[in-house]
Amino acid sequence: MHIAQDSVVTIHYTLKDDAGEIIDSSTPEEPLVYLHGHGNLVPGLERELAGKCAGDKFNVRLSPADGYGEYDKQLVQRVPRRSLRGVAKVDVGMRLHAQTDEGPRPVTVTHVMGDMVTLDGNHPLAGKNLNFEIEVTVVRAATQEELSHGHVHGPGGDHH
Ligand SMILES: [Zn+2]
Repeated sequence: MHIAQDSVVTIHYTLKDDAGEIIDSSTPEEPLVYLHGHGNLVPGLERELAGKCAGDKFNVRLSPADGYGEYDKQLVQRVPRRSLRGVAKVDVGMRLHAQTDEGPRPVTVTHVMGDMVTLDGNHPLAGKNLNFEIEVTVVRAATQEELSHGHVHGPGGDHH
């Protein structure tokens, strides 16, 4: 069975940056299971996986546009410390949810200077090339229930 719209796909993956450092990977016990064609993976990776089948191994290098997007300086803002209500201590590297016009949005604290805090709303991997090593292990059709929920149930998926 080939990977197509609405396939449930199990993969092992390793993600490296351009320097060859591992950013993220699945573990042998916990492969990634996802519903294909529903935007659950970055766009370039879904595109590369389409048509593959169980047993296929491949490497792919994605540009930021096919990954987590270009780095957008507009998403960086400096705010007064006091505007971060309910946050006891602000440290560089903290992930917070900032209130914006479009609702809460994840941001990372990238700088603290006196009473001013710099918040970066870019995904941590925005602007980076993504080098994936992929092995496809299982491909099956989604159930009706999985399709109506838009995600996978059972091992590797949601239990509810
Ligand atoms: Zn569900």
